[in-house]
Amino acid sequence: MGDRVAVLPIEARWLYSRSVKEPASNRRATEPPLDFIRAIITEDVASGKNGGRVATRFPPEPNGYLHIGHAKSICLNFGVAAEFGGKCNLRFDDTNPAKEDVEYVESIKQDVHWLGFDWEDREYYASDYFGQLHDYAVHLINTGKAYVDDLTADEIREYRGTLIRPGKESPHRDRSIEENLCLFERMRDGEFEDGSRVLRAKIDMASPNLNLRDPVLYRIRRAPHHRTGEGWCIYPMYDYAHALSDAIEGITHSLCTLEFEDHRPLYDWCIENLPVPSRPRQIEFARLNLNYTVMSKRKLLTLVQKGLVAGWDDPRMPTIGGLRRRGYTPESIRDFAARVGLAKRENVVDVALLEDCARDDLNKRARRALAVLRPLRVIVENFPEDRVEDVELTNNPEDPSAGTRKVPFSRVLYIEQDDFREVPPPRYFRLAPGREVRLRGTYFIKCVGVAKDEKTGEVVELRCTYDPVTKGGAAPDGRKVKATIHWVSAAHAVDAEVRLYDRLFTVPDPGGDEERAFTAFLNPNSLGVLRDCKVEPGLAAAPKEGRYQFERLGYFSVDPDSTDGRLVFNRTVTLRDTWARIEQAQRQGPGAGGQGLGAGG
Ligand code: ATP
Ligand code: MG
Repeated sequence: MGDRVAVLPIEARWLYSRSVKEPASNRRATEPPLDFIRAIITEDVASGKNGGRVATRFPPEPNGYLHIGHAKSICLNFGVAAEFGGKCNLRFDDTNPAKEDVEYVESIKQDVHWLGFDWEDREYYASDYFGQLHDYAVHLINTGKAYVDDLTADEIREYRGTLIRPGKESPHRDRSIEENLCLFERMRDGEFEDGSRVLRAKIDMASPNLNLRDPVLYRIRRAPHHRTGEGWCIYPMYDYAHALSDAIEGITHSLCTLEFEDHRPLYDWCIENLPVPSRPRQIEFARLNLNYTVMSKRKLLTLVQKGLVAGWDDPRMPTIGGLRRRGYTPESIRDFAARVGLAKRENVVDVALLEDCARDDLNKRARRALAVLRPLRVIVENFPEDRVEDVELTNNPEDPSAGTRKVPFSRVLYIEQDDFREVPPPRYFRLAPGREVRLRGTYFIKCVGVAKDEKTGEVVELRCTYDPVTKGGAAPDGRKVKATIHWVSAAHAVDAEVRLYDRLFTVPDPGGDEERAFTAFLNPNSLGVLRDCKVEPGLAAAPKEGRYQFERLGYFSVDPDSTDGRLVFNRTVTLRDTWARIEQAQRQGPGAGGQGLGAGG
């Protein structure tokens, strides 16, 4: 798998940030080349094709929640339309009544809006065109280009042949136009059983392209549709409905994923053989694949239905809802889509790139906060018992306008258990008996004693002293400390639950094993819940979906499970790529990477 991982160049991001600001025609010769789709569209616009008009669509099937792969398609379709002064439609491809649901329609609309895109009043449904699509089918029959077939689904498959065996014509292929018209109307009127007859295009049973061997256009399916109810018992097939919906809407560039490349001749056949109002062009690009992730809606549905995750918006899911709940911003996802760019070949993107996009964006916008995930009590023995000092801390060093805040400091503190070692290993510079460190934003403290649980021997409390002249973090005598650790004041801290997430799968390609189902590779440690966390008091007023950098720990966001009395945070992403560090440590052998905070899930 490793050699299949292709992370696309960083210039794509630059291209994106430019392209949203400026129309494509303003590009200068020195700029990096356009991706192949934008290059094609630029050429089409320049040559006056479609009157210079650009219209795209995002065509989800409402049979599941959108995932990060869809986000790539959304950013592409809406992005291209905006850059070329065109429009992008939202079209629900709802031609399969059995699996579709209004719940999915609503979630898809929410997700596209959240990503920052707007289809205005252009919310369309393939089912709106059922009448027109039926009339087109009648047109094909009338021109001798479609026929009703009585073969069963199995027989049709058998007759279709294979890549090395040519297809065989159905005995019903040469029915008269009159008989076909009559049978098709009777199909529509519900006279025949589900699956007993289909309407097929009459193209070429010897075509090297299997999609052209008289593809099925309509099938009988008695299932209530979420929009048309019991109005229809015949439903158009995807290839037919998709091409014609594009043409009906005046789409100029129909962007879809590579698996439809072999379907393009059929797409074009539909357009060429019907009196459609416009002539869209289908262009294929490589779908987004991410390692350590499954992305097909069917697999995601399995995870939800089997209760292997908490729902479609479980923060470990690659769904837009999951990423949103995890704390990702729309900006970081759009940036990711731009950074992966567009390719004509299948490739696998490293999920670490997605995490990097979150870090880059949150670094700029997330306020800093002090939070202790695994608390260890510290008594500062020489600090007066009733004294409380305000320590002024910067809210965001990347954004001076975010200002500062005051955090209370007192005699009893919590620090991170990992920031103390009774017997410090080599290169461990944090607190240890007799050692001095700096507390973030304030004094040096020195560990002068350790209290242990009598039974377990576990360190339960540290006794420290502080040096009053080091306030602000420097010693007048010039002595140095090698570590700065974070803290919260015990009397002022607010309790919180913190949920730590790790990759949902332990292998790069969970769907790629011949023998074992993808669920066999679930990471048993993908969720870790810490219930005794202590956060600085200001966070009691954290807004819903508020995003923070817990200093030295990572980026965290308020989970919707939070209530007034109980704060819940999700770890969006660690500060650095801990997987890269683990892998590096493994390569370098034991002893390396000893600075880890151990916040892994
Ligand atoms: P899945 O295979 O995950 O079930 P799908 O292709 O069946 O997805 P649709 O609802 O038909 O899902 O997809 C809507 C649009 O999003 C289509 O144009 C499709 O090509 C595009 N799309 C789906 N998955 C990806 C992906 N991984 N990368 C890029 N585009 C995608
Ligand atoms: Mg699909």
